[in-house]
Amino acid sequence: RASRLMNGRGQKLRVSFEFFPPKTEEMERSLWEAIERLAPISPHFVSVTYGAGGSTRERTHATVKRMLDETALTPAAHLTCVDATRDDVDAVVQNYREIGVRHIVALRGDPTSGVGAHYAPHPGGYQNAADLVAGIRRIGDFEVSVSAYPEKHPDSRDTEVDLDMLKAKVDAGATRAITQFFFDNDLYFSYLDRVRARGINIPIVPGIVPVQNFKQVRNFAERCGTSIPRWLAQRFDGLDDDVATRKLVAAAVAAEQVLDLVDRGVTDFHFYTMNRADLVYAVCHLLGLRPALKEAA
Ligand code: FAD
Repeated sequence: RASRLMNGRGQKLRVSFEFFPPKTEEMERSLWEAIERLAPISPHFVSVTYGAGGSTRERTHATVKRMLDETALTPAAHLTCVDATRDDVDAVVQNYREIGVRHIVALRGDPTSGVGAHYAPHPGGYQNAADLVAGIRRIGDFEVSVSAYPEKHPDSRDTEVDLDMLKAKVDAGATRAITQFFFDNDLYFSYLDRVRARGINIPIVPGIVPVQNFKQVRNFAERCGTSIPRWLAQRFDGLDDDVATRKLVAAAVAAEQVLDLVDRGVTDFHFYTMNRADLVYAVCHLLGLRPALKEAA
């Protein structure tokens, strides 16, 4: 079993946390409770998503700005090029540069008519995620993270097309990829082998979803092409109305997945927090990550 803060090869572990911008004051309060609880773990960075079609442009910006102003965290702003001209997108990037953001998570995004609809770039916009990455790098010396799909993106004909796109994003200047969430670690490692065989050498950071709500996760998974192993469904079977047990099972499932990845050499993890701290905090604790103040004491 991996030792504290290290993987089996003695390499240091790092985590990052993803949040979404809140819609209401109540959601804002619970987001900031989660941030306050997770911040002392000293994540490598925290990221804030961008709503479909840029619908959260202002809210994403406001959340990132508040992180810069009120915390010691390093924020990364997600950005998509759906339904936007290059000038619009460039203005957002310039603005981030001016307020001191140095990391952007660059995505194509989904068509505003819904996931699964045919994607068409805006006539005056960036053509795809690789084009967007190149545009961002032209504006400033940003760290640029992009997406990666161990189980293939639903739009892709096959995995090879997917790897072509990842390669194009790296050639355009992407410095890290974060994966779509998955539950079968073997799929991640076989994907990683294919990525490396393509000569792609940036970190491919696993995206981890702690299962707060199995039904909701199953729906997300269906839309984004993540497979739900039979054992996972069985573990949550019969717990729909039993929140307390569900939470314990969810922590056990996430811990098992992450500790297995650590044992197999993974050092970086990106947690899709859903703006909730408890499960993520527990898994980080199991990884040996402790609040900075306690550690110093
Ligand atoms: P790309 O990497 O450009 O493409 C994904 C795959 O689709 C490619 O590998 C390629 O094979 C295939 N593809 C693309 N275009 C075509 C085409 N024309 N024909 C055939 N195949 C094609 N969405 C948001 O709206 N906001 C967010 O903040 C956000 N954050 C995300 C964070 C992460 C870590 C991940 C994994 C996803 C996120 N998404 C977000 C979802 C993402 O926008 C969608 O998955 C979208 O459908 C694809 O965007 P992408 O940048 O992954 O696309």
